[in-house]
Amino acid sequence: MHVAYIAFGTNMGDKRRYIREALKKIKDKGINIIKVSSIYETEPYGVLEQDNFLNGVVQVETDLSPEMLLESLMSIEKELDRVRIKKWGPRTIDLDIIFYEDFIINKENLVVPHKDMENRDFVLKPLCELDENFIHPTLKKSVKKLYEDLQNKKL
Ligand code: AMP
Repeated sequence: MHVAYIAFGTNMGDKRRYIREALKKIKDKGINIIKVSSIYETEPYGVLEQDNFLNGVVQVETDLSPEMLLESLMSIEKELDRVRIKKWGPRTIDLDIIFYEDFIINKENLVVPHKDMENRDFVLKPLCELDENFIHPTLKKSVKKLYEDLQNKKL
């Protein structure tokens, strides 16, 4: 079994319902949910003229390989009718693999740890709730330290 962290985000329609449905679909695919973070309301990142997001992170345990996990998450996004209008635009549900154990993956379709996660409060804050001592395998810092560094960067 492998431990992975999956970030979720939604900013369209009945957001809480999309989160509930996504978590249920994750379970239905045989991925064990260990812990779910609190849900945070965040302002849009990138394209600003859109509704606020609800974001969080879920800690899972799975036998799936990283590639198979990505495939499952993409099929859940599709099932939840995600309409891709523009990059960083509105979405029913976005599911990203943040960490997969301490694996470092740099493939065309899969980058783990997730690119740019160290600059995103809405990923780091919920991650801190789940396991603040988890070490980012390339930056070699705990999630807690990455979150603190990001707050200091903004000062
Ligand atoms: P987005 O929905 O904007 O997050 O982008 C989805 C695309 O990102 C998919 O086509 C994936 O192949 C690619 N991708 C690369 N790394 C990851 C990752 N760690 N988690 C989820 N999607 C990823």
